[in-house]
Order: sequence, then structure tokens, then C-alpha cells
Amino acid sequence: MIAFTVDDCWLDGWRGRTTLVADDEGFRRARGSDPKPEAHLAGTVLPGFRDAHVHLGLVDGTELLAGGIAAVDDFGWELDLARTWPSASGFPRVTIAGQLLTVPGGYPTASGWAPPGASWEIAAPDDAPAAVDRQLDAGAAFIKIALNADAGPVLDDATLARVVEHAHARGVTVAAHAQGKGQAARAFAAGVDVLAHAPWSERLSDELLGAMVAGATAAGAMTARPMTWVSTLDIHGWGARDADFVVASDNVRRFHAVGGRIRYGTDLGNGPLPVGINARELLALEHAGLGLDALAAAIAPAAPGAPNGFGRHLSVISAEGAPDRATDPAAWLATARLIDHDRLKEHLR
Ligand SMILES: [Zn+2]
Repeated sequence: MIAFTVDDCWLDGWRGRTTLVADDEGFRRARGSDPKPEAHLAGTVLPGFRDAHVHLGLVDGTELLAGGIAAVDDFGWELDLARTWPSASGFPRVTIAGQLLTVPGGYPTASGWAPPGASWEIAAPDDAPAAVDRQLDAGAAFIKIALNADAGPVLDDATLARVVEHAHARGVTVAAHAQGKGQAARAFAAGVDVLAHAPWSERLSDELLGAMVAGATAAGAMTARPMTWVSTLDIHGWGARDADFVVASDNVRRFHAVGGRIRYGTDLGNGPLPVGINARELLALEHAGLGLDALAAAIAPAAPGAPNGFGRHLSVISAEGAPDRATDPAAWLATARLIDHDRLKEHLR
């Protein structure tokens, strides 16, 4: 165990100069009974950055740590491969969805990026619980469904409801790829917890956004829960900011303004995206109205299961050479590099 100070620290809020401890579990804030700090780590420290939407089947997962990403949520792949990722050496911390749940002939069965085994087709409502169990029994930590009306048939309301109900009964959340007019609203009404992408098919009404934040529909339906959106703004043009970008960005701006929770996520693997921190995604979020604190909350959530901790990686931003954090928060965050628990001593003085 070693205790050390850092210049500044983010953990669900700015903590100023802080003493951290590295022990067998990883990093955490010091408690009263811990030894006095004996070293210093220069810079500002945050929990290791997390990309909340990736496809490890399409990138080399061993490159992510060097790119500044300490944790990822994999949004769909073949079970036999995906189940190996959470314990794969050289990978960041990984949670998987397993297969995307869809209907026969539905997205992504006919899209180029996903192999056949990356999705599982549900033909009738009664097949939904077994489809969910299949993923969870293989190690999935959440369920991903496809509701892409632009690319084929989608789950009907009865099947959608059964998927969500069974996933929640088993204690996991449900994320949806909602695309096509009305699909984001359907996902919300069914109790889906997470949108895999900020919606771009249409401008969502202020009323719907407010309901998504509150977790209740105007009619007071009890199935709905507060929603989290994964950003993925940069998939729309990869810097060129196309028409879909404008719609998605406007939805994010208004969702954030009424208190909606946004997670940084890139859909890594689909398109020319950097294997690591995507500075354009952060900048797009800044331009959609997220300030420094909201950006930090989006990309550096506390490690799950460690409410007073950081997990096995720290994101560290050097005081030297970084952009100004008050005026350029996205660019500032994008300079973060990871420090591995096992190599901490090289960085202390
Ligand atoms: Zn995806």
C-alpha cells in the first residue's frame, strides 16, 4: 500500500488537493486510518476514462489503454468471443451486452458490420426471457436491443416489454439502438434505460425529453425510468458534422439542459475513429452545452463497485502543456493519459 498526494482530483465533483491510496484493490481516496502520504503525483487525477459504447470485435482492444481508455461497454458481438473480453489480458475493464436482441430480419442482421452471431432473433414475446437469459448466462452485464426501423422490422411492443421486464427482473439494464421516427419514444415508454446513441432521426419534443429525465411519461406510466444517453455524436461525419449531427447535437443540448444524463461513447469500431480518447466527441459535447463538470461526469464516472474509488487506472492530466481547462475543457480532458496501478511508482516523486 502506498499513499500519495495529487494536485487536484475529480470524483463525482472536484476535490482539490487530495491524498489517494493504491492498494491491492486499485486506487481510492485515503481514509483516516491510512498512512500519511509519502509521495506526490503531479497533475489532475480522474477515474480512468470510460467509453460507454464500443465494439471490441472491430478493433484491437489491447490498444485502448495506451489511447487513454480504461473502461468500455461492448455493445454487441458473438457470445463465444465477447465472453472472453472481461478477463482478457491487456484489455481495459470491459462489460459486455453479448448479442444484440432483434427480430427475424431486423437490424443488424443485414448490415455489413455485424457477423451473424452478433445478434439473436426473437420471434415471439414468449421467446424473450430465454433470449435475455442466454446473454446473462454468458456473462453479459446489460442487454442491448435493436429498434432500427430504418433497416428493417423492429420488436413489437409486447416483445419489447417482455425483454425489458425480464432484464430488469434479473437486475440488469437495457440499452437500445433506437433509429427511425418514434423509436426513441417507444424505447422510453417500454422502460429502456439507455439509448446507445443520442437520437438523430428526429427532433425530440421538449415534453419527451422532460419525461426521459424524470422517468415518467405524461400519462404517468410506471414502466419508464430516467434515461441515460450515450453520446456518439462524432459518428455523424467524423468531424464533418452532417445533417444527422445537427439533429443529434440539438437533442443532446436540450436533454442536457433539462438535466438529462449523458455518457461519453463513440461506437468505436464503426467508422474511422481513434482507438482511444476521441477529442472530437468531447468537443461535440462541449459545443452541445456540456461544461467542464458535465464532461468529466460523462467520461470519468466512478468505477462501479468502488464508490470511493477509481479502479485500477487513473486518468491524469499534466499541468504542463495542457490547454486551459476553464476555456477549453474538451481539449483539456483529451490530453489525459492513464496510469496503471502496477506502474504507479514510475510516476511518483
Ligand atoms: Zn454500436
